[in-house]
This record gives sequence, C-alpha cells and structure tokens, in this order.
Amino acid sequence: MRYKYCPECGAKLDSMPVGDEGLVPWCKSCDRPWFDTFNTCVLSVILNEDDEVLLIRQSYHDTAKYVGVAGYMKPDETAEAAAAREIAEETGLQAISVQFLESHFYEGRDQLMLGFAARVHKSGLNLSGEVLEGRWFDIDTAINTVREGSIIQKLIIKTKESIL
Ligand SMILES: [Zn+2]
Repeated sequence: MRYKYCPECGAKLDSMPVGDEGLVPWCKSCDRPWFDTFNTCVLSVILNEDDEVLLIRQSYHDTAKYVGVAGYMKPDETAEAAAAREIAEETGLQAISVQFLESHFYEGRDQLMLGFAARVHKSGLNLSGEVLEGRWFDIDTAINTVREGSIIQKLIIKTKESIL
C-alpha cells in the first residue's frame, strides 16, 4: 500500500528525500515518513513423521484446489507463532517444530509470504469451518497436486530437498 494521506492526522503527504531511500511520502505536520507497506502472511508445509504433507481444500476460495495452510500475521506475534497458530486454527494440529524455509513476494496481492516447514504428529484433524478437507499426500504427490509454479509448490520442493 502506498500512502497518499497521513494515517495519523489525515494531511496530504509530500515527498521528502530520506537517506538512501530516495523520495519518501512525508507528513509535514507529524514530521515523519510513511513508507509503503504490505501485508505479511505465513504459509506452511505441514509434515508428519512419515514425511507426508497435509494439503487442504478451502470452503471459500477455489474449492477444488489443494493448497497449503496460510494466514495473515497479527501485530505482536512472531512469524513462527503465526504459522503454528494458523495450523492449529485450520487443522486442529499442534506444531512440534516450525522452521523457516524462504520468503516470496506475492506481487498480485502485495503480500510478503514467509514460508515454513512445520512438523506435526499424524493424528485426527479438527478442521475449521473454512476448510472442506484435509488430506495427507506423500511429498512427490503433494508437489504434483498443488498449482504448478505456486509458492506452496516451491516450498514443498524446498522441504523435500532439506529432508532428503
Ligand atoms: Zn500527519
């Protein structure tokens, strides 16, 4: 998001040179910059002790497609905690470990996606109302089940490389 008006006082912003950043939107009344912002999301490859990957189908978006468990970060939360929280909320599973893999910028949605590999025990799923189905796939099948070229596919491939 690019600010045109100050979120604090509502004044129209000017541009001001700020160090190495170049011209930055600037509020004269508050005397501070307003850098461009974007949302930060977490996306996890959920793995069980047999190295199977849990993919879900969502009830509200493209219901036929299998995707990873993702969500928006909240303020005052670490990215690892956000990943574990989203897994618990959507699948009912408790992450034993959450390990950062890599990040991707999702241009179309102005989102920074932080990718994780999370270990869980293979146990009963307790799906949220947003999830139609959760299903375990062996890792190669998971790679071929998600959308070709998607961020979750890149993360599953990265996970496979790191566990072999
Ligand atoms: Zn202001």
